[in-house]
Amino acid sequence: MSKPVIATASLAGCFGCHMSFLDIDDRILKLVELVEFNKSPIDDIKTFTKPVDIGIIEGGCSNTENVEVLRSFRENCKVLVSVGECAIMGGLPALRNGIPLKECLEEAYLKTPSVDPSEGIIPNDEDLPIILDRVYPCHEVVKIDYFLPGCPPPADLIWEAVTALIEGRPLNLTYDMVKFD
Ligand code: SF4
Repeated sequence: MSKPVIATASLAGCFGCHMSFLDIDDRILKLVELVEFNKSPIDDIKTFTKPVDIGIIEGGCSNTENVEVLRSFRENCKVLVSVGECAIMGGLPALRNGIPLKECLEEAYLKTPSVDPSEGIIPNDEDLPIILDRVYPCHEVVKIDYFLPGCPPPADLIWEAVTALIEGRPLNLTYDMVKFD
C-alpha cells in the first residue's frame, strides 16, 4: 500500500518550526516508515512530483514568491496545515505591518548605521520577489485546514497532529501542548 505523502515549506519564517518538526528525535525513524516526503527542504525535493496528502506551511506571506509557493501548496495538497505563529498570525516578520513599507525599506537599506548614505540602494533587481505592503497570515491567502500554535509548536504537538492526520483520527491537542505561558 502506498504511504501518505507529506510536503513542507518555509515562507516568511525562520525554519524554527522545521527544526521543531525534526525535534521528534528517534520518532523520525518511525515517520520515515509511515510517510513519504515530497517537495520539502527536509529532502531537498524542489517541485511537486505527485499529489500530496498533508502540506505543512511555516511562515506567512511577506513577498510575491511566498504567495506563489503557498498557492501551489494549496493546489497540490489535500490538507494544508499552518504551523507556528508566523504562518498563523504573521509572527515576528509582521512587526513591520504598522510601518509603511517605504519607510521600512529606507530604514533597512539607506539609513541603517552600517550603510554609507551615498552608496545605499533599495534592492530593485527584477528577479527579486516583490515585497508586499504587509505580512499576511496564510489563511488570508488560501484556505487552511488546521492551525498548530506555538513559536515553534513543540515537537510532541507536531507529532500528534501529523500522526492523527495520517491515521485519519481527530487531533488530540491536549492543554499542555498548546499552553505557552
Ligand atoms: S513561528 Fe517561531 S519558530 Fe516558527 S518560523 Fe516563526 S519565528 Fe520561527
